[in-house]
Amino acid sequence: MVKSTRTGKKTTISKAILDGLAQDGGLYVFENIKQLNLSHLNDKSYAEVATKVFKHFLDEFDSKKVKNIVHQTYESELFKPSPVALKFKDKFGYLNLYNGETFAFKDMALSVLPQLIEEAKNINSIKQNNLVLTATSGDTGSAALSGFKWLKDDHVFVLYPTIGVSQFQELQMTSFSSDNLHVFAIDGNFDECQTIVKKLFNELKTTHIQLTSANSINIGRIIPQVAYYVYAYLKALKANKLKDKKQINFCVPTGNFGNIYAGYLAKKLGVPIHKLLIASNQNDVLDEFFKTGQYTINRSLVKTMSPSMDIIISSNLERYLYDILDGNTAKVKSLMTKLQNDKSIQLKEIKNDTTFYSNSATEKETLKTIRQTFSNEKELLDPHTAVAKTVYNKYLKETNDDTFTVIVSTASPFKFSDVVMRALGIEKKETLKESIQSLANYSKMSVDSRIWDILKNKTTKTPLEKSDAVTYLKKVIGDIDENQSSRN
Ligand SMILES: *Cc1c(COP(=O)(O)O)cnc(C)c1O
Repeated sequence: MVKSTRTGKKTTISKAILDGLAQDGGLYVFENIKQLNLSHLNDKSYAEVATKVFKHFLDEFDSKKVKNIVHQTYESELFKPSPVALKFKDKFGYLNLYNGETFAFKDMALSVLPQLIEEAKNINSIKQNNLVLTATSGDTGSAALSGFKWLKDDHVFVLYPTIGVSQFQELQMTSFSSDNLHVFAIDGNFDECQTIVKKLFNELKTTHIQLTSANSINIGRIIPQVAYYVYAYLKALKANKLKDKKQINFCVPTGNFGNIYAGYLAKKLGVPIHKLLIASNQNDVLDEFFKTGQYTINRSLVKTMSPSMDIIISSNLERYLYDILDGNTAKVKSLMTKLQNDKSIQLKEIKNDTTFYSNSATEKETLKTIRQTFSNEKELLDPHTAVAKTVYNKYLKETNDDTFTVIVSTASPFKFSDVVMRALGIEKKETLKESIQSLANYSKMSVDSRIWDILKNKTTKTPLEKSDAVTYLKKVIGDIDENQSSRN
């Protein structure tokens, strides 16, 4: 069973996956997490490890079905050459999670979420089609479109900000074309897109379609992410990288706190994690919170080179607040209300936590890290991963901790080629395609052929003014809802 962070109201995991957000506005968390026996998993493939982890959380699901879903996803053409790879350096390694179709780690969860939703509907005898509503700072949008495009009767709505997404991200999102995929460019920032989506969730009353969220508030997004923490640990252990205590650290470029929260769950499963390093960019709300206990959201969003982390309201943090408040849902609820009203909360309990370390990287430091990493290791880092590497370097300097650390590598550097080129001092070419080619030549790294395919497309942007968005989308979605009724 899972329960809501705000009232403790319980529900099944399948219903939680269908709901996304709990009705009381809270997020779903697992009641208690049993340890997973990791000793049998040593030599297993990624799909085998992931199956074990999925089954552990999805106890209500048929275990054969879970196994099929996991194997079909992670052993498919979607992930080339493999879903994840751990590349060892000296005292650390990079966990490459961007081998999916949209070249960012969100594919790890969003490629499998549609099937989990389908199965959750089976369990609950729900026949309606899905309508997925998503706000994105770039990567979630394309990963959701890619994940759901197979389900021809489902609709996907993606809202992205015109300010902030990279040229490649926009090209990728707008090139998914099908009657059931709807992509809009909103004249604002990510938080404004998120506000529109929240409004729609609150105000839309559909009768024939099931509204769902693909954002990481959905617990179905978190579960698949736990698997790679377990897998990376097993790989590092097997490669004899772990010291006497057999412990491991993970350093995670963080925005909505979804990825690192999955690492935190992996620790609860029994992965001997010493530290989880939270890496923020200049929007360092989380860093401030973990250092001081002060969480303030009335500050302006800075547009950075790592747009997928340009977030002020870090939605998954609530799941963690629930834990440090010892599961006191009334306290969580009053804090979240206070946050909404006063735009700021202060929590002294944060001081008792020893798992998390936090720090942030400035834009200048991020560029420097990309440059230094390439010159020292011949590795190209995308700007998000470079934020993590910067924070890892700071951590090493401060602590001298020699625990083997996995730097979670969340996006392909070619997805953010302009930033990487700027960092390396390579001149930008006229077209994106020429630029990417030039970066490939310079770095001697090969470019995934699917990137060239995307570059053949043309951006066909559909702008939507934020002031009109709610009214307009209510009408469009209302029409879809009605259409479904005549078909049923
Ligand atoms: C989404 C994203 C992040 C941040 O992950 P959260 O789960 O939101 O903390 C980091 N890097 C990339 C490339 C992303 O797409």
